[in-house]
Amino acid sequence: MKRIKVKINKSEREYDVYALLTSFFPGTEVVTAADDNSECDGIFSIDEDGANVRISLDFEDIKEESQFEISSKEKDDAKKEFGLKLYDFLSKATGKELPWGNLTGIRPTKLIRTIFEEECKKEDLDPTALAQSPDEDEKYISIKESVFKRAYNERRLRGEKLELGIDIAKREIDIMSRLHETDGYSVYVGIPFCPSTCLYCSFTSNPIFKYKNKIGDYLKAVKKELEWTASNMKDSALDTIYIGGGTPTTLNPEELDELLGYITSILPFENVREFTIEAGRADSITKEKLDVIKKYPINRISVNPQTMSDETLKLIGRNHTVEQFVEAFKMVREEGFENINTDIIIGLPGETIEDVRHTIDELVKLKPDSLTVHSLAIKRASRLKRWMDENELKITMDYEEAMRICAEGAKKLGLKPYYLYRQKQMAGNLENTGYSTPGKEGLYNILIMEEIQSIVAIGAGSVSKHVHNNGLIERCDNVKDIDLYLEKTDEMINRKTALFTGIEK
Ligand code: SF4
Repeated sequence: MKRIKVKINKSEREYDVYALLTSFFPGTEVVTAADDNSECDGIFSIDEDGANVRISLDFEDIKEESQFEISSKEKDDAKKEFGLKLYDFLSKATGKELPWGNLTGIRPTKLIRTIFEEECKKEDLDPTALAQSPDEDEKYISIKESVFKRAYNERRLRGEKLELGIDIAKREIDIMSRLHETDGYSVYVGIPFCPSTCLYCSFTSNPIFKYKNKIGDYLKAVKKELEWTASNMKDSALDTIYIGGGTPTTLNPEELDELLGYITSILPFENVREFTIEAGRADSITKEKLDVIKKYPINRISVNPQTMSDETLKLIGRNHTVEQFVEAFKMVREEGFENINTDIIIGLPGETIEDVRHTIDELVKLKPDSLTVHSLAIKRASRLKRWMDENELKITMDYEEAMRICAEGAKKLGLKPYYLYRQKQMAGNLENTGYSTPGKEGLYNILIMEEIQSIVAIGAGSVSKHVHNNGLIERCDNVKDIDLYLEKTDEMINRKTALFTGIEK
């Protein structure tokens, strides 16, 4: 892999520089001069002296230099101006434009939604009313034009991605108008156990067979946190509950019954619009478990194939076949679940565009109510990266083309894009998109991405988030290790008390 070394004299610029360089030069390793003395194939340097910035690139056949001034005095504006000028420099040097312009964050739709709302405010228009109006509405068209102008001027964002972003932002504003914002909250319950560990896993997950005899204690600790939630979040409206992991359906029927029974008995359900359970792995789903789930007001369930190729499933260690997934999906449908989500991953080791097409074609036959498309991020120092290096495997997936195939499949199913986030720190243009039948969107997914509501997160490895009225966001996490979590449950609760009530214990 080729390497570019970055020499920069203002450390606060590092993230933006790193993110843009990796996007302009996908497949190239970007290292900072400070942490690397080894050979490299090119140098990118930025020398900032007050308002004056000197910038140069010497890599492959590109030799480019430039100077510019930062005219903005406010820190945030100066950061934006720097980001824009850096983008223009790299764009000129490489002759490329990036699909997301100079946006490096993971939440592009949050930014587009904010611009949309600001433009509505300028014109004294109600953003929700406008978001609910048809695409042909004159006022909507005029606001959309202003958003397009600003998105380009401020972020160099235009074309297909901006169209998609504004389409999603419009849908989200409409959906969010029916949810509580900072006066509401959601609950996440993490069950960090799985039948086996997938090769690419980046979540808190432990093989269930190792922890069988600790599940009772784990559920006790979860109940303690739920009890805290019920008594301390009384002044907020509970909008959504999400049981994720791991794979919650690795619990046996009795354990599932105990968990769901406690959740429904202790949390206030009068405002709950969505109650999701992940039944991610086909090898964890049985009729008996579905019968238990059916007893409770769960109205969204996720059954995830990730791919419809047996060869890949074996390679990534999911321990189930395509046939098992299809059977599990049909069983869930026959049990009467009317909102089934399926997750797939593009870029799995060894897969080609044809595999993506096959996965989508097979899923279209099953008619899921929503489809979430993830791009596989191969992080440096990850187990997957090591495994790929050992086996001399490379990802050659054309992600843009794969995303297009998925979008076409979603269209065939009548699903619309409703949330999107980009992957942090990765080369290329990796993004994850959720498509759904209108009215069956994953509300929790939107709330997480748009950061308009607090999340009380329960269980090992989960992260709680307090979204204040002024937009300030604070977080606290639970330890990942199961034994430590069991030992320190009270400390996790004290962290929540400090986060949500401001009272330190
Ligand atoms: S099912 Fe999900 S959480 Fe479990 S090991 Fe696989 S990727 Fe990780």
